[in-house]
Amino acid sequence: CGIVGYIGNQDAKEVLLQGLEKLEYRGYDSAGLAVINQGDVQIFKEKGRIADLRRVVNQKILSCIGIGHTRWATHGKPSTKNAHPHQCNIGRFTIVHNGVIENYEQLKHRYLSEVHLKSDTDTEIIVQMISEFSKYTDTEEAFIKTLELLKGSYAIALLDKEDEETIYVAKNKSPLLIGIGDTFNVIASDAMATIQLTDQYVEIMDEEVVILKRDKVIIKRLNGEIIKRDSYRAELDT
Ligand code: GLU
Repeated sequence: CGIVGYIGNQDAKEVLLQGLEKLEYRGYDSAGLAVINQGDVQIFKEKGRIADLRRVVNQKILSCIGIGHTRWATHGKPSTKNAHPHQCNIGRFTIVHNGVIENYEQLKHRYLSEVHLKSDTDTEIIVQMISEFSKYTDTEEAFIKTLELLKGSYAIALLDKEDEETIYVAKNKSPLLIGIGDTFNVIASDAMATIQLTDQYVEIMDEEVVILKRDKVIIKRLNGEIIKRDSYRAELDT
């Protein structure tokens, strides 16, 4: 399973599809991607191979921000419904997640008893909680508040349809890297996914949040403290 994300000025969907193809070796049962296209979030998902996903992606869309996912089902059977990305009910937030949320049943009962869930995954509760918390605060705080409540492993990328300039990222016990470009930035489970775009990467540590813009990477601890970390050069045999 794997995650890839892109914010910049190229066609995001093509970067995502190519990145997902490079992550195929990690194993998966379904795949999907989301891009924001002129204020509209477009989601494509498919059970099966990335080649099948490529066929359902609308080739006419051009977009400069997006997230993609290959899923290895842990909660909910492999199906298009359970494939990521997952969206909150009002459609504002869209998420991809690798890992397992161990306390998702408790969180569902505590915070989402009134919310209709559309999938059988442990992942969907994350995006629905962010949406609930965002009624009272901004996206970054709603995201951090949600992360503080999660028990388990996660690599997460989050899109907010009201902000086409940001991808929110976090990880705990699941791999995720930031790749730095001149006019873009990427995220990837493995540098292999995006090495054709950049060889400069920044590590994210557990329980950190990254606010990713096309020309800026802000890394914070969950308590808000800002972290400075240099990039390194990834050398892969391609
Ligand atoms: N637990 C999540 C699910 O079953 C994510 C699985 C993964 O890591 O791909 O949908």
